[in-house]
Amino acid sequence: MTDTPTQLFIGGAWVDAADGATMAVDDPATGEILCHVADAGAKDARLAEDAAAQAQEEWARTAPRARSEILRRAYEIILDRTDELAHLMTSEMGKPLAEARGEVAYAAEFFRWFSEEAVRVEGGNGVLPDGRNRMLLSRRPVGPCLLITPWNFPLAMGTRKIGPAIAAGCTMILKPAPQTPLSSLALAAILKEAGLPDGVLNVVTTSRAGEVCEPLLRGGRIRKLSFTGSTAVGRLLLAQSAEAVVRTSMELGGNAPFIVFEDADLDKAVDGAMVAKMRNMGEACTAANRFFVHTSVAEEFGRRLAERMGALVVGPGTRDGVDVGPLIDRVGRAKVEELVADAVERGARVLVGGRTPEGRGCFYPPTVLTDVASDSRLMDTEIFGPVAAILTFDDEDEVIRRANDTPWGLVGYVFTEGLDRALSVSERLEVGMVGLNTGLVSNPAAPFGGVKQSGLGREGGRVGIDEFLEYQYLAVPVR
Ligand code: NAP
Repeated sequence: MTDTPTQLFIGGAWVDAADGATMAVDDPATGEILCHVADAGAKDARLAEDAAAQAQEEWARTAPRARSEILRRAYEIILDRTDELAHLMTSEMGKPLAEARGEVAYAAEFFRWFSEEAVRVEGGNGVLPDGRNRMLLSRRPVGPCLLITPWNFPLAMGTRKIGPAIAAGCTMILKPAPQTPLSSLALAAILKEAGLPDGVLNVVTTSRAGEVCEPLLRGGRIRKLSFTGSTAVGRLLLAQSAEAVVRTSMELGGNAPFIVFEDADLDKAVDGAMVAKMRNMGEACTAANRFFVHTSVAEEFGRRLAERMGALVVGPGTRDGVDVGPLIDRVGRAKVEELVADAVERGARVLVGGRTPEGRGCFYPPTVLTDVASDSRLMDTEIFGPVAAILTFDDEDEVIRRANDTPWGLVGYVFTEGLDRALSVSERLEVGMVGLNTGLVSNPAAPFGGVKQSGLGREGGRVGIDEFLEYQYLAVPVR
């Protein structure tokens, strides 16, 4: 903690907020204040925008190999400092250390992946059909970007955006969530150490998100917004981006169905459910939100899932042997409590958990609800907590209709041993990603993203860098 920067990172320098404001960062396991960081306002945002705009031209001209090697060096530094970064993340966000270490590796991998992509950006050329003109196609960085990230994956949500922006030759301003600014500040220090030129990355930590971001989006110099967060905030930012016609990538909320057919391997289904539900204490956009289980296997699935969930150890993420850390804050926990109470009022049975423990810290126990009514609020609200809600179904068409009956479409999980069914159900689900007999889809080499109100665009994979590039077409007469 002692070496972690707590100031804003603007133009390659660590600076206080112009008005001297600071904000507290809390440990969700104790409720205690860990430290204070700079709290940026509109003036700081303008300075960061100046720095990003000034650095853009030279950065775009920097050799792709040079950009690639900065990412590669940063990848190696991150891995070398896994323990330090994992402790930092656990202290500000709460996830158990083992999961934080996993996130450090996942986050670093975006830098390795995009260090490889930076040198593979290709244009094209050819003679146009009329034979009179040649077409030369080149790819250009879109320009200065605003990157806004949530608190649930404090390091990986940053590298998933910074990696492709650096690879493409864009400069940027990163605005992390106020609950978890420290991981982003540590990342900025690592990129500086890896040789990133001043002004390419600027980090503004703030409790005044609207004051900082709205002028940037409306001002005309920021050319790209990459946002990860809730659909409600995404919608607002899309509207703000319309004025200056800012290009947008939106990774928004989810409401993932997890479907277990009667021919599923229940060992695989329960293993998959533990990952799809419990990764990050359920605080993941990919978290299974609605478990649809065939009537013939629902009882056994519920019993086995409840056994596994009930055996998990809840406690501070820094303690050895802990599987489930605290939720991010009291507001997040109160929402989970309300959703469970509502489901129970409408007839759900609690197989395990369901009771908030006494004492400090924002803990909530792993919970399994069965006989959940379709009109329960958690059916159309992201639970964002360790609660598995089980409903039953009898028929394939029926379950597909119910799974798709939501404005979201990020990910779905399908468990069946039948190949035809696996493929046809996956194709009929209105989602950007499907986990087929697995509870984990996230991988830096795969395109991550959703359809419907879960977002626009993809992060990671071969297409991840496209979000930060424009085409330029040159018409050249054939002589
Ligand atoms: P959130 O409330 O939407 O906040 C996300 C980020 O947006 C935070 O940095 C937040 O800062 C900022 N923000 C809020 N209002 C803003 C405004 N008016 N102008 C500019 N920035 C603003 O979401 P969250 O609660 O942090 O994160 C949980 C959500 O993220 C869930 O819905 C989850 O599904 C989604 N998520 C999606 C993905 C994905 O890849 N699809 C991945 C992870 C999480 P403040 O807190 O200061 O307002």
